[in-house]
Amino acid sequence: MTDLLTLLARHPRTILTTNPTPIEPAVRLGSHLGLNLLIKRDDLTSIPFGGNKVRQLEFYFGAAQQKGADTVLITGAVQSNYGRTVAAIAARLGMEAHIQLEERVPAMDAQYYRSGNVLLEDLTGAIRHTYPRGDDEAGADASLYNLSSNLVNKGRRPYVIPLGPDNPPIGALGYVAAAVEIIEQISHLPISIDAIVLPSGSAMTHSGLLVGLRAAGQSIPIYGVCVRRPASEQRERVLNTCRALTKLLGIDIPIHGDDINVDDDALAPGYGRLNNKVFEAISITASTEALYLDPVYTGRTMAGLIHLAKSNVLSSGSSVLFLHTGGTPALFAYGTELRSRLNEIQFGA
Ligand SMILES: *Cc1c(COP(=O)(O)O)cnc(C)c1O
Repeated sequence: MTDLLTLLARHPRTILTTNPTPIEPAVRLGSHLGLNLLIKRDDLTSIPFGGNKVRQLEFYFGAAQQKGADTVLITGAVQSNYGRTVAAIAARLGMEAHIQLEERVPAMDAQYYRSGNVLLEDLTGAIRHTYPRGDDEAGADASLYNLSSNLVNKGRRPYVIPLGPDNPPIGALGYVAAAVEIIEQISHLPISIDAIVLPSGSAMTHSGLLVGLRAAGQSIPIYGVCVRRPASEQRERVLNTCRALTKLLGIDIPIHGDDINVDDDALAPGYGRLNNKVFEAISITASTEALYLDPVYTGRTMAGLIHLAKSNVLSSGSSVLFLHTGGTPALFAYGTELRSRLNEIQFGA
């Protein structure tokens, strides 16, 4: 068993969380699904509105501060939680934040461009930029580095948080740390956890937790629900990120392809787009648990969990830990679409 805390201590880190986040039973939703369901509340990490990006950013801001940066740049979807969280942390640390918003989701209305995370970014005084494409990680990063060199010319000391998968997976270190936290927490539970279900996007969360658990000798299966790419592509992404992460940590834990479970049943029609399964997952979770999930990530992940339960991959009565990665401000950005679906149910309109 590897001492993960010693390995993590080699990486600069700005502590932003007052850990641990709670693990809570979701009894009513669980009995509806025939599972013993527990929720890891990473929507309650210590920056307002929480989320998984706070854990990831502890290591990026650690690196930025070690390099003496006074400015941080990041790229993401218009309703990126990453951008909003960078804006919030930069405000707290007295740094300048530049957020580049990409056009990833077609045909959205004014609320999508103004409310939710965008509203919060503007309140914290971040400087927003736009990028006209949405499926071009290399181009988005190039544009970010271009903004960064302009800032250097103006005398600032910028730090870029890149998007592309060829960069060291610094953010995944946050979920290696979360693995240590979860192992400690579940060791005090009267039951053992049979499976963990989480969103799989950039794969920092998925890879971090997978490598962290395996390095600590824990074999709990992890199911990643695809939020951006089809299962075959996502599996490769997770595998490559795991390899890069073990290298970054300096450990020799081989992660095999058959240890990477990905489910894309709820992905269509694509990233950031609501469908019936996601809407139903959001509404059942709110009405049974008063837990709010978002249309882009966590609602889709719960829809994936429901699919895994229905198809008996998660067997009836098993104990399942759902990782709630936050993202709730996006609910308001998708207000028009959510409202019309609610109206259909309430008024048959
Ligand atoms: C970014 C994000 C994810 C995806 O996490 P990755 O580490 O990029 O895979 C999941 N949930 C929420 C709420 C997010 O903001």
